Amino acid sequence: MLIVQKYGGTSVGDTNRIKSVARRVVNKHREGHRMVVVVSAMGHTTDDLIKLARDITGNPSAREMDMLLSTGEQVSIALLAMAINNLGADVISLTGPQAGIKTESIHSRARITDIDCTRLHAAIEAGQIVVVAGFQGLCDNKDITTLGRGGSDTTAVALAAALKADLCEIYTDVDGVYTADPRVVPDARQLEAITYDEMLELATLGAAVLHPRAVECAKIYGIPLRVRCSFNDNPGTIVKEESDMEKNLVVTGVTCNKNVAKLGIFGVPDQPGIAYMVFKMLADLNINVDMIVQSSMRDGVNDISFTVTQDDLRKSIETIEEIIKVVGATGYTHNPHVAMVSVVGAGMTSNPGVAAMMFGALADGEINIDMISTSDIKISCIINNNEAEKAMNILHRKFELSKVSRSNCCA
Ligand code: ADP
Ligand code: ASP
Ligand code: MG
Repeated sequence: MLIVQKYGGTSVGDTNRIKSVARRVVNKHREGHRMVVVVSAMGHTTDDLIKLARDITGNPSAREMDMLLSTGEQVSIALLAMAINNLGADVISLTGPQAGIKTESIHSRARITDIDCTRLHAAIEAGQIVVVAGFQGLCDNKDITTLGRGGSDTTAVALAAALKADLCEIYTDVDGVYTADPRVVPDARQLEAITYDEMLELATLGAAVLHPRAVECAKIYGIPLRVRCSFNDNPGTIVKEESDMEKNLVVTGVTCNKNVAKLGIFGVPDQPGIAYMVFKMLADLNINVDMIVQSSMRDGVNDISFTVTQDDLRKSIETIEEIIKVVGATGYTHNPHVAMVSVVGAGMTSNPGVAAMMFGALADGEINIDMISTSDIKISCIINNNEAEKAMNILHRKFELSKVSRSNCCA
């Protein structure tokens, strides 16, 4: 089999852990499998590099940030290759660019556009274990780009797709995908299986266990993903297409995103084309707008509220000040102290009343709902960010997720 494995920051957090990853990889290789191994930067290296940049400047160039952050993964690939070599196996480490990973020319959140597998194929055919730096690639003008925080998962899945691998395993510091972040909800249960769509919603809505684009790529190319723990032999959670809807839970998971800020524009004239102008100006600056609520018209004007990531808040405020002048609105507010809590489940489509249950549970917990958004398989509410953990625990209890047993899942 051709296996792509990815080891996250904690799994390669120190040299002993790197040696233990090397043993796992070499054991699989000795069983006769061809191995491609993607690694993240060690422990908190990426955060530490960001702090170093902030000590130099409050406004570093995006190109130089990518140059800096990509070094974290380069340390891990070299050390892991040395550890594998020490165990007597033939190995080569490759940076993202050396592995042929090409991306868009957008720094800090580039998408992979293509992978030239020539060098990878040659190394694999030569019997080498190939260790690839996650989270990075090369754009058209030959600059190093990074894929966004958590992007090593996406490197692994994209490589699995390009190499037509038989299996893609994401090794991390928890046993698999849980009904909620086990660090926030102590009662959370590990799922045996979850569908691509549910996992995509959970990841997009804040469950850091997988990078959303990794799930998207796995779904598009039909790559079954297994999320496992690098410290034990638990089989983990399989992410795949649904096979038995009847067994699905109404709600599979609860998640929360604190990287959210809310903005509101008041007194926006109620005319065709105004919403287009507002959101086009934000889109032109690459600001990703999430939830949008327009209040019903009174006296020929509307209020429009929406959410952006905390990182985009400053840029959004500057843009809103422009927007107000252009569209003739009366004012604006912004609130960075919000969080989005969400419940996700494919079974929601066929089970009415989930939204009411969610709102009722939050009301019982005296948690005020600021904004609401729904899709086929998720309901999200904007609440105060200091109530996020409480809300997650309340919702986890309400939907009885601590009673999930492994046979409940869509195996
Ligand atoms: P890695 O460095 O291995 O990529 P991450 O920190 O990116 O690890 O992701 C693993 C973390 O994701 C876990 O430690 C856990 O706290 C968090 N997490 C959030 N939501 C979930 C969930 N639903 N299931 C499992 N882990 C989750
Ligand atoms: N090292 C990068 C980060 O911390 C990428 C990753 O770990 O997936 O976000
Ligand atoms: Mg991660």
